Amino acid sequence: MSNSEESVVLGQPTVGDEELAAVAEVFRSGWLAGAGPACRRFEERFARTVGTAHALSTSNCGSALFLGLKVLGVQPGDEVVVGDYTFPATGHAVVQAGAKPVFADIRPDVWSADPAAVEAAITPRTVGILAVDVAGQPGDFDEYRAIADRHGLWLFEDAACSAGATYRTRPAGSLADLAAFSFHGRKGITAGEGGALVSDREDLIARARKLHTYGIEPAISREGSDTLPIPSFHELGYNFRLSDIQAAIMNVQLDRLPDLLAARRSVAKRYHEAFDGVDGLTVPVELPDREHPWQAYILTVAPEISRDALALRIRERGVQCNFGTYASHLQPIYGDQPPLPVSADAFARHLAVPMHANLTDAEVERVATTVREAVHSLT
Ligand SMILES: *Cc1c(COP(=O)(O)O)cnc(C)c1O
Repeated sequence: MSNSEESVVLGQPTVGDEELAAVAEVFRSGWLAGAGPACRRFEERFARTVGTAHALSTSNCGSALFLGLKVLGVQPGDEVVVGDYTFPATGHAVVQAGAKPVFADIRPDVWSADPAAVEAAITPRTVGILAVDVAGQPGDFDEYRAIADRHGLWLFEDAACSAGATYRTRPAGSLADLAAFSFHGRKGITAGEGGALVSDREDLIARARKLHTYGIEPAISREGSDTLPIPSFHELGYNFRLSDIQAAIMNVQLDRLPDLLAARRSVAKRYHEAFDGVDGLTVPVELPDREHPWQAYILTVAPEISRDALALRIRERGVQCNFGTYASHLQPIYGDQPPLPVSADAFARHLAVPMHANLTDAEVERVATTVREAVHSLT
C-alpha cells in the first residue's frame, strides 16, 4: 500500500450528528436502560418497516434467534433445518436452545438454502426451518413455506442482513412465522450492536418480550400505575434488551434506510459493470423477484485462481477484502457433519470486497481497478 493513500475499508457504518443528537435526547430523558420509550418507538416503526404486526428490540441477532427458538417451543432432541452458509450465530442459537442444527446445502447462485436440500434434511424429529437471507437477499420463502406446511413445521427467517430487502414485493422480515435482524456495526443499519425479533403473532412476541427482560413484563408497563404492581418470577428469563441509547440511534438509522440502500445499490451497480465478464470472477446474482440490500458484495473466484492469494494481493494494494461467510458444517463446534459441497465451495472461493454506503466514486473505481489488476496478475 502506498503511503499517500488510505486503505478502502470493507464495511463502515453511516452515523453522524443526527445520531449524536438522538443520544443526547436520551441522556436528557434519564431513561438509558432498555425497554424504555425509545425502544418502544423503534419497535413500532421497525415493525412497520418490515411489514409485521409486532417487533421486539434485542441486544443482538443471536439473542433474537435464541428467543425465537424458545418461544417456538424448541426442546432438547428436536432438529432444526438450518441454511448452511451463514455466520454461525444461526447454528449456535439452535444448539443453545438445546436442539440439533441439521445443515442444508445452498443454491449455487444466491447461497440461500436450496429448497430441495431443506426438504431432504427433514426427519421425524424436525420441528422447523431456520432459513438465512445470505448477504441480505431473501431466500426462497414461498418454497420454504410450502415445505413447512407439508411437514407441519414452523418457519424462521434469519434476516440479520436484510433490512430493506424484498421478496416478491414483501419485505424481508415478513416472510416467515418469525424473523431476526442484526444491528451490528457491519450491517446495513446499526447501533453498534443490536437486534430485533419480528412477527405477526402477538403471542410469540409477548412471550419473547418477557423472556428478554428476566421473565417479567418490562418496567415501562408498570409506569403510571395507581397501584404498586410487584411482578413475580415464573420462568427463567434473560437480559437480552437493547438499550434506549441504541434504540435512539436506530430511530435515526431507520430515517436513513432508503438513502443507505440507494447508496449500496449504486455501488453494486458500478461493481457489476466493472467485474461482469472479467475472466476468473463471477459477480453476485440479484434475482429478478427480490431487492437485494447489498449488505455485502461477494465475488466468486474461479477454481484455477487461489482466492487466498488474490485476497492478499488486493489487501497489499490497500483495498480491504475478505472471504464471504462461513460454511457452518465445517466449523469444529458442530462436530462431524456430512459434506455439503456447494456451501464448502462458496466458503473456499468467495471474496467480499468493500461495500458500504460511504464509498466515494473514486474508492469504487480504485476497488474495481485493484481487483481486476490482481486477478490479471494471477492468471
Ligand atoms: C451478523 C449475523 C448474525 C449475528 O448477528 P449479531 O447481531 O452479531 O448477533 C446472525 N446471522 C447472520 C446471517 C448474520 O449475518
